[in-house]
Amino acid sequence: MTQVIELKGVSKRYDNAGAPALGPLDLTVAQGEALAVTGPSGSGKSTLLNLVAGLDKPTEGTVTVAGQRIDTLGEHALARYRRERVGMVFQFFNLLDDLTVADNIQLPAQLTGTARGKAAARAGELMELLGIQKHARAYPGRLSGGERQRVAVARALVNRPALLLADEPTGALDSASGQDVRRLLVDLHRSGQTIVLVTHDLALAEACASRSVHLVDGHVALDSRTEAVR
Ligand code: ADP
Repeated sequence: MTQVIELKGVSKRYDNAGAPALGPLDLTVAQGEALAVTGPSGSGKSTLLNLVAGLDKPTEGTVTVAGQRIDTLGEHALARYRRERVGMVFQFFNLLDDLTVADNIQLPAQLTGTARGKAAARAGELMELLGIQKHARAYPGRLSGGERQRVAVARALVNRPALLLADEPTGALDSASGQDVRRLLVDLHRSGQTIVLVTHDLALAEACASRSVHLVDGHVALDSRTEAVR
């Protein structure tokens, strides 16, 4: 089985006193898994996500994503890794309000040097897939929260990342929009996308994830494979 994420002996300390904020831990995520990371506030979920996203480095251990050691990369290579290999979705969408929906989605493709026509075609394909093509020329400010999160997911997928990372993707949504994003993540998992999802939303974890890792004090307290995704 191909591993998309391999953490070996990973720990992260923000200071020298006391126990590490995360780890030491070993964790692998196989291609096609949808992993929900849960746990109380301060348990290390964001730290874990940041290490996998290449936004921070471990104090000890190795982080390999899609076959590439990322803990040893310099800033330039890390920026490239983030653009090309991972897609990120955040609680508050982080869309650019001055760009249309279509341009928001295309932007990461253009930043990796994809020709404008090709980037536009890929964005069109994703808008169609996610049911937001009618908003292509709208600005994000005109859309509902659920629609904005769909745009953010399309943007995250534009470069066909090995890994989709989502940090509380339903945290800012009303329950109907939350349900909409939940369904979208289920569909992506079914299509084979590897997903790591950090969430407090147990309904989201239960609906979308094929596996759940529960962190307590920086350690894996529970690692369970769930039944087939509904
Ligand atoms: P969670 O996402 O589960 O709320 P975090 O990964 O944010 O947990 O935090 C884990 C621990 O690390 C907490 O004790 C937190 O205070 C600490 N921590 C997180 N980020 C930093 C930082 N930049 N500097 C110092 N301590 C931090």
